[in-house]
Amino acid sequence: MTAITHHISDALLDAYVTGSLGHPFAVVVAAHLSLCDACRARAEAAEMLGGSLLDRLAPAPLSAGAQDRLLAALDDASPPPLQSTASGIFPAAVMQALGGQPPKWRMLGGGIRQQILSADSQGSLRLLYIPPGRAVPAHSHGGLELTLVLQGDFSDSEGRFGPGDVEIAHDEIDHQPVAGPDGPCICLAATDAPLRFRAMIPRLLQPLFRI
Ligand SMILES: [Zn+2]
Repeated sequence: MTAITHHISDALLDAYVTGSLGHPFAVVVAAHLSLCDACRARAEAAEMLGGSLLDRLAPAPLSAGAQDRLLAALDDASPPPLQSTASGIFPAAVMQALGGQPPKWRMLGGGIRQQILSADSQGSLRLLYIPPGRAVPAHSHGGLELTLVLQGDFSDSEGRFGPGDVEIAHDEIDHQPVAGPDGPCICLAATDAPLRFRAMIPRLLQPLFRI
């Protein structure tokens, strides 16, 4: 893998570490952390800082019965969900979102394929497969879009993004990613708002596209 040059921002990393990031973005950050030693070190440092702040808080006495309730809750806790492991180009966080199965691609036209991994009030998470040299329809979005490259590369007005790179696109960016010529580009994309396409036809297709 070539060196990663586009990383997670401090604000996103802090939100991830404190657990305040929505599910779609959290999966992208977790997948990037599994690929990027530099950001994993930053996340561990942020977690240690958070832990030392907690250590400095004065301990509060437990109310009567709190210990019993805590022990009862631990007894009732369901076992943690099965943790997926990385498979091929897909980091563990992506395999978890895939339910441990390989992607089931759906054709979108022009050779572009996608699999929606989740779509709810927190936003959407999808895998995209873009043939070499092919452009994703130009779009902007009302919120934030994170795109992590898993294979191949794409370029747009913000630069070139290779494996492990994350593009952080805010709503003011009107971009048209084009996959590099050497092979298909597979990426993981998370949004917190529907995308807006400039061309008429993609807009008509938007309900089908579910983005
Ligand atoms: Zn990084």
